[in-house]
Amino acid sequence: MMEQRNGWKRRLASLAASLMLAGTALVPAVKAEKAGVKQERPAVSASAAKGNKPAAAPVSWADMQRRYRGVFVLRASAAGGRRVALTFDDVPDPRYTPLVLNALKRKRVRATFFVVGSRAAKHPGLMRRIVDEGHAVGNHTYSHPELPKLSLGQVKREIERTGATIRATAGFEPAMIRPPYGDIRSAQLEWARARGYTVVNWDVDSQDWRQIPSGVVLRNAVKGLRPGSIILMHAGGGSGQNLFGTVNALPHLIDQLRAKGYELVTVPELLHIPERRPNRA
Ligand SMILES: [Zn+2]
Repeated sequence: MMEQRNGWKRRLASLAASLMLAGTALVPAVKAEKAGVKQERPAVSASAAKGNKPAAAPVSWADMQRRYRGVFVLRASAAGGRRVALTFDDVPDPRYTPLVLNALKRKRVRATFFVVGSRAAKHPGLMRRIVDEGHAVGNHTYSHPELPKLSLGQVKREIERTGATIRATAGFEPAMIRPPYGDIRSAQLEWARARGYTVVNWDVDSQDWRQIPSGVVLRNAVKGLRPGSIILMHAGGGSGQNLFGTVNALPHLIDQLRAKGYELVTVPELLHIPERRPNRA
């Protein structure tokens, strides 16, 4: 697992290097949420795994969900019925976001999009389209950093700058945060709680960022699915990243979920939480 993670880190580093060479400001918002995540995965990890710091006792996502009830969320209670939420990270991306929106529109499904602020600033029209078509949006930071490596002040700036950008393009600030890679530290969660944010991760990972065929995306997206599940997918990618597996799987996924009796709702609907932060006085 560690070799695998380090392998991905190296690939991410080389992707970052090639993006910088290409002279684009686009941060690799994208190789995206790491694989194999779910509850079992330690939420405290990257630096400890490299031995840079004394290893903190790993805290599983499930533990964090219990400890920060209603603040750190992986899924809804099954008591809410056969409802699940599709979530798409790393938007807006002019290559893939419109294709995902088209598929959702054809199937009359509303989903939840986690927005990278630097991308929203570049593609305000796409931001407006997401909102106009009835989807929910959340904050996925401005530059897609690993939050555990940042100071609290840096995290605050990442979130607040993104909130302001979304307000400028969509007219409101989201109340949901999804940390890049799902990684967040306790002190950062405490800050989010104090500010009234809900941190929304997922319990089902399509692993679509691995550029896998649509059949595999589909299989991953229903594996372990249960009432209340939150499914992680992507509607934005890094330079050269291919997300056609996601785009092609989506109509079939929606059909399969409906055939199993699931209703597809947005995350705020699933969790019964507000989508928007209150307007500041
Ligand atoms: Zn992401």
